[in-house]
Amino acid sequence: MRTKFIIVAGGVISGVGKGVATASIAKILKDYGYKTTCIKIDPYINVDAGTMNPTEHGEVFVTEDGDETDQDIGNYERFLNENILSVNYMTTGRVYLSVIERERRLEYHGKCVEVVPHIPFEVIDRFKKAAEVTKADIVVIEVGGTVGEYQNILFLEAARMLHLQNPEDVLFVLVSYLPVPKNIGEMKTKPTQYATISLNSAGIQPDFIICRAETAIDAVRKAKIATFCNIQPDHVISAPDVETIYDVPLLLEKEGMGKKILDKFGMKPKKNELAKWEKKVEAIKNSTDEVKIGIVGKYFDHGDYVLADSYISVIEAIKHASWSLGVKPVIGWIDAQQVEKDTASLNQYHGIIVPGGFGARGVEGKINAIRFCRENNVPYLGLCYGMQLAVVEFARNVCGMKDAHTTEVNKETHYPVIDMQISQRGVMAQQKYGGTMRLGAYAAALNPGSAVYELYKKCGRLDSDKSQLLKNNLEDFRLGTMKNNVVLERHRHRYEVNPKFIEALEKKGMIFSGSHERADGTKLMEFIELKGKSFFGTQAHPEFKSRVENPAPLFVGLMEGAVKRMRRS
Ligand code: GLN
Repeated sequence: MRTKFIIVAGGVISGVGKGVATASIAKILKDYGYKTTCIKIDPYINVDAGTMNPTEHGEVFVTEDGDETDQDIGNYERFLNENILSVNYMTTGRVYLSVIERERRLEYHGKCVEVVPHIPFEVIDRFKKAAEVTKADIVVIEVGGTVGEYQNILFLEAARMLHLQNPEDVLFVLVSYLPVPKNIGEMKTKPTQYATISLNSAGIQPDFIICRAETAIDAVRKAKIATFCNIQPDHVISAPDVETIYDVPLLLEKEGMGKKILDKFGMKPKKNELAKWEKKVEAIKNSTDEVKIGIVGKYFDHGDYVLADSYISVIEAIKHASWSLGVKPVIGWIDAQQVEKDTASLNQYHGIIVPGGFGARGVEGKINAIRFCRENNVPYLGLCYGMQLAVVEFARNVCGMKDAHTTEVNKETHYPVIDMQISQRGVMAQQKYGGTMRLGAYAAALNPGSAVYELYKKCGRLDSDKSQLLKNNLEDFRLGTMKNNVVLERHRHRYEVNPKFIEALEKKGMIFSGSHERADGTKLMEFIELKGKSFFGTQAHPEFKSRVENPAPLFVGLMEGAVKRMRRS
């Protein structure tokens, strides 16, 4: 069988849920028995998402092999319950960079290298490479941006060329939005018609239109879209807002989208496993007891609006862990700078998370919040910066190291309990900022008997990742020298717990429950906990590997603590 490609583009507005639609299509086809994968194209010049502020771009999602990508890759992983690697991600910058580098190596054999066709050719090569590496039967490709804008036109051109090469193997899906203006009170199809015309002018005719809207689209409007957008009426797919994104595959299936796609490719379902997913979604909807979790961060504001996009994997990980315990999370946003003044507002929460972060703004607020949790037995989970600052707080307020800090914020501190990794110092001196943090999956050995160890064991994660590491052909250094009790989590950081202070911190009761042993014998602290408390921290980002079917152990730990607190109150 030749690989099939489904190109998903968005129309009318951004943020209609193209990523979730892409992931859902891949999920449905996977459950029909095909090997599927997803590719994300980001139209910006940045070579990866790592150099952008999260309020600009949303979360930077880190892959197992250490690429800094778009949050949609996270959606793909969560829906497919599989790791998606770097080969499935590209940006305009990345594509141009490789074309230019090839030109410098004379790989175009003296030809004039042009935007068209060489850029689209490179894009097509990348599609095929991803198909080959993942051995996918069906590749679902999400073109970032909205049709009609200048930025993604070369990617649409690549998609058009791919279709020209093998018309039977490529189909196009437009994810559109149908507004219901308040003063008219009627769902309008015209913007979708214009989006289709835009696609047509790029030489592309959609095969399916997914109609995102507040409510389901009725027969009259379906017929209108079919006529004016030139597609089969039963290929106009209704996709109203839903309570949980995990419902979307079921919603699309209600419209028969999976079978219609297979039909179009001349394929038949090999099995049907979507019922398992349906059960999960049912359980999600039945989780009703509310548990309040506060996230202390600083990447919320965007003009007059508050965007949760910067912490999307953290939010999803909270949900997965909550649902696994049969409760419903209610998430509160706590502005770190507010908590600098007053921590009283924190008492209402059943659990608190300080997620990843960078720089000085809001740091004292985060440290205040951590202190509040430690002193008042509020369940706490610190992720990366949140773990580093938990160490700073403990050093200051328990070990009496008054001005203890991370050297990221205070280089003059007498107690640099968090300091830059030695391997990072040269990199920083040369100002090589892009893609140079300690990125991707690294193994840690957990100390038996620690609460962290018990959580990973209970969740079936202990050692289970080691074989996966080898299977993915990732480099040996990621495993380090450890043999047993190994867990594999993803990272994105330059600083670490300063080894010089470990003993002093341990003496006062900080427990380091797991570490990564580098080839040179030095150890990087990966997990902390406090005895008898629901208080955890990790240098990693376990949120990136949390799935509906496989919640992240530390999030389960946090939620168990939070549920107890909720039941007590
Ligand atoms: N700023 C910290 C570091 O670079 C933490 C990074 C993070 O939270 N992702 O180590």
